[in-house]
Amino acid sequence: MGKRYYCAYCDRSFKDDPEARKKHLSSLQHTKNRADHYNMYKDPEVILKEESTKIPCKWYLSVGDCAFGLGCRYSHYTPPMIWELQRLVAIRNQSKLNVTPENGWPNPDDIIKEYFENNTSTSSTDDFVYPTWNRPLELHDYSMLPPSLWPITPESLANTTTFKEWG
Ligand SMILES: [Zn+2]
Ligand SMILES: [Zn+2]
Repeated sequence: MGKRYYCAYCDRSFKDDPEARKKHLSSLQHTKNRADHYNMYKDPEVILKEESTKIPCKWYLSVGDCAFGLGCRYSHYTPPMIWELQRLVAIRNQSKLNVTPENGWPNPDDIIKEYFENNTSTSSTDDFVYPTWNRPLELHDYSMLPPSLWPITPESLANTTTFKEWG
């Protein structure tokens, strides 16, 4: 009997040749079983932490097989598998951030309301003297003023259509 390749995710073994192994590893069933394995048995974050402390299994990475299977003390995770885990963790963390106000995140409307409620009592907008800009006396009779030096009036602020270019 020839060497058999055992896939721990699928709990299946088959004749071990590179072609058959490659075919199996890229099969939909295997991909699904592997994903189920991640989802059902372990938190991808936990796996990532565990695997990052392990040395890659020489047997598994060179031969594609290791007698110890999932119980091997060395890592059987190839870089693409680690990336997949990192992606899973990232997706999970992102969904954790999508918390609604009911789950403890303050409602932006409440923040704004609170801000204005707290400020109306202390603010003194009416007393505030806004600085005004006045044309220097020397320029009063100068007719060639560039638009940027024109006096600012409520009309000039509202009318932006005549403001073609900066002088
Ligand atoms: Zn498999
Ligand atoms: Zn191993």
